[in-house]
Amino acid sequence: MVQINDNFTKLSDSYLFTEIARRLKAYTASNPDAPIIRMGIGDVTLPLPDACIKAMHKAVDEMSQKDTFRGYGPEQGYEFLQDKIRQFDFKSHGVDINNDEIFISDGAKSDTGNITDILGNNVIAVTDPVYPVYVDTNVMSGRNIVRMPTTKSNDFVPELPKEKVDVIYLCYPNNPTGTTLTKEQLKVFVDYAIRNKSLILFDAAYEAFITESNVPHSIYEIDGAKQVAIEFRSYSKTAGFTGTRCSYTVVPKECRYRRQCTKFNGTPYIIQRAAEATYSEEGQLQVRQLIDYYLLNAKIIRESLSAKGFEVFGGINSPYIWLKTPDGDSWAFFDYLLKEKNIVSTPGAGFGASGEGYLRLTAFNTKEKTIEAMDRI
Ligand SMILES: *Cc1c(COP(=O)(O)O)cnc(C)c1O
Repeated sequence: MVQINDNFTKLSDSYLFTEIARRLKAYTASNPDAPIIRMGIGDVTLPLPDACIKAMHKAVDEMSQKDTFRGYGPEQGYEFLQDKIRQFDFKSHGVDINNDEIFISDGAKSDTGNITDILGNNVIAVTDPVYPVYVDTNVMSGRNIVRMPTTKSNDFVPELPKEKVDVIYLCYPNNPTGTTLTKEQLKVFVDYAIRNKSLILFDAAYEAFITESNVPHSIYEIDGAKQVAIEFRSYSKTAGFTGTRCSYTVVPKECRYRRQCTKFNGTPYIIQRAAEATYSEEGQLQVRQLIDYYLLNAKIIRESLSAKGFEVFGGINSPYIWLKTPDGDSWAFFDYLLKEKNIVSTPGAGFGASGEGYLRLTAFNTKEKTIEAMDRI
């Protein structure tokens, strides 16, 4: 008989976004004309930059010709893209990364999940609230998870775990809180990892939203981080690639953990050309426009809610606004916004126990709808 991995049965059966979808469906079934505004799930809404579309068209044409056709590509990604990543994402921030330390892939969700394949029976630390993927993938592998509360009471700066942990997941700018760490605050974690021989898995999916100068763009801006950290980046939120799929992982040579490419045959050529196009002069400008559009929405949400007396966090270096719910119960406030204001949000409790009493709103909507939502509240 087939044995299944028992750990899968330990996953909580109601995934956060399934429960939100269930409540939304129940509400719209009896209120089919409700003018719903979605500020819940973290998906982008603006189309791909024109530079990416052009690059994909060109690459598709190359695939149609015998001379320019490409079959299996290098598993780690094409050099043309690694070159751009090295220069634009790292060198420009004073960080030296080599092409062979860059692994191009099809999404930071799969990368942060698949990396757990190389881990043994380690103790894992995550912030609470947390991006659910880090928790669920480690539950699937049967690992113990320690939580580092990040709330208003510690200014959203997690404290080091009391017990010794082997692996620490950090996501900055953070999903869901939208908050950041300064270089000094991040250094505390790098120093801990060096001292304890731990590994930091640093998710920088929202790097493009950084606006403040004291916020590090890469963990490798911190001395010693190359020995202890793997960094994940994605084109999903940067350039609207949530449906197009492209990401990369940096595994420095100094890092004691190296990953192989047995399970993966590379991201499609056409998609890597699209990612490359985000670094052209035209592409850079268009990516900036995308990010600025969402950042303006974030500002609108932040400022309107503050003016209405809400306590709000994030939204400065991030498309996410994390707000304190008036009566503490985040699912109750979620229901209130859905039923009374027809706004879909994400209850903080869905991201972990320390998320109770908070709620996440996203800036991934049109400016018009964002303003309308704010008028409704
Ligand atoms: C959206 C998001 C990602 C990106 O995932 P992809 O698989 O690249 O689309 C990664 N990490 C966090 C925390 C995210 O919110």
